[in-house]
Amino acid sequence: MSIFGEKCARCGTKTRHEVDGKATCEACEKEMQLLVEAKAEDLRPCPVDGTTMKKEIAHMIVVDRCPTCQGVWLDGGELERLKGGVEASAVMAMATGFASPFG
Ligand SMILES: [Zn+2]
Ligand SMILES: [Zn+2]
Repeated sequence: MSIFGEKCARCGTKTRHEVDGKATCEACEKEMQLLVEAKAEDLRPCPVDGTTMKKEIAHMIVVDRCPTCQGVWLDGGELERLKGGVEASAVMAMATGFASPFG
């Protein structure tokens, strides 16, 4: 990390703020928290075992994670964001083995 700051992994704004070791501007961090809270109303059952999944932030996007099978499902709206390419490969690697119910 340089003293001039890094680019936010999510929006590209210069920032010295970090979340999970990644340069993430404070606006994005706040937005992610709001997203998780807003989407807490929108809890889905795991398509595999029916357990209610938890909202989690992974690689700058909101995902649903099943506490039973540890399956990771991309949130519907976040799929659109992935098309922007931010960390897409990392997320797809993480989600390998789990089909998306939204695709
Ligand atoms: Zn940002
Ligand atoms: Zn599950």
